[in-house]
Amino acid sequence: MNKKLWIGIDDTDSKRYGCTTYTGALLIQSLREAGYNVVGYPRLVRLNPNCPYKTRGNAAIAIAVETDKIEPIEDIVIKVIESNSDLQAEGTDPGAVLLFEEPTQSLREYYWHVVRDLSTIEEAEKIAAENNARLLRWKAGRGIIGAIAAIGADLTLDKTYELIAYRKREYWGTIRLIDSESVWEMDKATYPLTFDNIDKETGEIRITPHTPCPVLLGIRGVTPNIVEEAYKILKILEPVEFYVIFETNQATDAHLQLIKIKDVKDSVSAIIDGVVKSKPSFTVGGHVFFKLEDETGEITCAAYEPTKKFRHIIVQLEPGDRVTVYGAVKKKPQGLTLNLEKIHIKSLTELHLVRAPKCSVCGKRMEKIGRAGYMCRKCKVFSSEPEIIKIERGISPGLYEVPASARRHLSKPLALTSNYKHR
Ligand code: ZN
Repeated sequence: MNKKLWIGIDDTDSKRYGCTTYTGALLIQSLREAGYNVVGYPRLVRLNPNCPYKTRGNAAIAIAVETDKIEPIEDIVIKVIESNSDLQAEGTDPGAVLLFEEPTQSLREYYWHVVRDLSTIEEAEKIAAENNARLLRWKAGRGIIGAIAAIGADLTLDKTYELIAYRKREYWGTIRLIDSESVWEMDKATYPLTFDNIDKETGEIRITPHTPCPVLLGIRGVTPNIVEEAYKILKILEPVEFYVIFETNQATDAHLQLIKIKDVKDSVSAIIDGVVKSKPSFTVGGHVFFKLEDETGEITCAAYEPTKKFRHIIVQLEPGDRVTVYGAVKKKPQGLTLNLEKIHIKSLTELHLVRAPKCSVCGKRMEKIGRAGYMCRKCKVFSSEPEIIKIERGISPGLYEVPASARRHLSKPLALTSNYKHR
């Protein structure tokens, strides 16, 4: 009876070459060629988007195979990583983890830690030792952090799928040849079951990356069937090497945690309930900032220039508005700053204009006489009450999000949030 062996890999890519998902896809191919049965969908797991060591998307891969011998698998993993990683590049520190059977509770918790906070190689080593996992590492081996976290990833609460198609090697670095009309057709036929296909605000096609990596395109969706169906609608004008459907924590908000302002720290991603404290305003760079407070403190919130129209919602907030903000926190010169991914405007404060009332006889506006009230000198009419006009607010309560082009991999689009709940 064969056991289940989990293989996790991470940090095989670099800024100029390679892609961890591609290494993962090649590993799947090599395992199949060697006669192994890959169990279920391979996993593409995004980790803390604030991690200072990340290359692009901070992605790790986990694959499960049926076997009772670890050594032949280890040889395949070593061969695939060594022939496909940019080991010369500074900051490429691949790691792989092999683990028999299902992850323990402590490994599950380690995943939540790595997706929401920063971890260290020492922590990863400790978790690996507790779980009798085998570690493979190259150079500093920082990749073991993501590799073991990917195995521990808990996707039972929420998950999505991504179909990634890879290019023939001779096309790497050239313009991707996909008929953009067909992307719009695909979006029309499958959105919101597939998402992030197109930035509707700018018209930009989002399924193709802009980097010289082996990825031709990625289609994200809620089931394996829908991403495959969507893929078949596309008109692709170059040969495709192969494609893989990954199970993923993308678009699940796994990185976010409900937190009080006093507990917020650099590099975590947070959900904060609070009240707008200062009137938002545009800076010279086109960013919008405001201060948010809760009963424990205050923090700066930012809608940066790339969030485009989203800023025009944010800038209309007023002190006293009750909101829930979602986003990654970074230490900036102005202090800890939350980079808004989403906002729930829960209630708007009423704004009023207070001015002198009109005279009931002549209809002219009265004049203020000290603290007592208002008077029309001509008609000798007196009023103690000012005229109070409610100012219409330009925004309404509700959920708002940044456009697809500014969205993080982990951030859940509102199109998927009809059944929204967070841990
Ligand atoms: Zn009058």
